[in-house]
Amino acid sequence: MDEIVRMIAKDAPVKAMAITGRDLVERARRIHKTLPVVTAALGRSLMACSMMGDQLKGEGASVTLRIKGDGPMGALTAVADAGGNVRGFVQEPAVFLPPKPNGKLDVSGAVGKSGSLTVIKDLEMKEPYVGTVPLVSGEIAEDVTAYFAVSEQIPTACALGVLVDTDQSVLRAGGYLIQLLPGASEEVIESVEEGVSMLGPVTAALMREGMDAENLLRQALSAFELETLERHPVEYRCYCSRERVVRALVSMGPEELRALIAEQGRAELTCQFCDAVYEFGREELEKLLG
Ligand SMILES: [Zn+2]
Repeated sequence: MDEIVRMIAKDAPVKAMAITGRDLVERARRIHKTLPVVTAALGRSLMACSMMGDQLKGEGASVTLRIKGDGPMGALTAVADAGGNVRGFVQEPAVFLPPKPNGKLDVSGAVGKSGSLTVIKDLEMKEPYVGTVPLVSGEIAEDVTAYFAVSEQIPTACALGVLVDTDQSVLRAGGYLIQLLPGASEEVIESVEEGVSMLGPVTAALMREGMDAENLLRQALSAFELETLERHPVEYRCYCSRERVVRALVSMGPEELRALIAEQGRAELTCQFCDAVYEFGREELEKLLG
């Protein structure tokens, strides 16, 4: 089961959260039929977005993470609710790239090295908060770190990893955000850096016996006295419904709708986030016209 854990250091201005996301990334892979390098890019983004969503207050709040690079995968969109439940899609799921010389999936090759990362936080107020930064590497974790540094002025250590099995299914997925609160000393920064480097890559850590989201943070932040604030399950969750699809059909306008009826006599709409298909017969479409 996927989960998010949030912790805080009792003896230093450090807060942290971690996610295990094997099931939600695998669900995304099955819905979108992604090839491994896109599974990794989408999976990393979904988990980052999930953690960002989990930081929001307010039940109806949501966060959208958009990554637009110049690579063959095209644009990527992820959306999370305030409980960290997340959904997403990519423009081109079937990208094949040879692995990098170190054997790792070439995520930045699929995403592209130049482009932008945009975060839109809908806090249910009039104007959503929007922050955009240029891509740093296209590896996503570094780009998320840059976003927090530039747009929110929060020094952040971010790691995200997706390990794809030989049959292309997701074997492990996880990540963390470690953030320094105002007043963190040079010593604290060094301890965090040391802990992160001792932990090593997330997917390798997650292969170790008994490793979960909480233990990821306990190892990375072993220099500190930690308190667990919250721990709860997260999942791939879509909020589409027939009513929403009807609204989308109506918003096409009468002309387009008339053309659709004339040309096809029916409509079949697939949700871009999940595998739900909504079918409409001629009669129903004509009723919408009225
Ligand atoms: Zn859906």
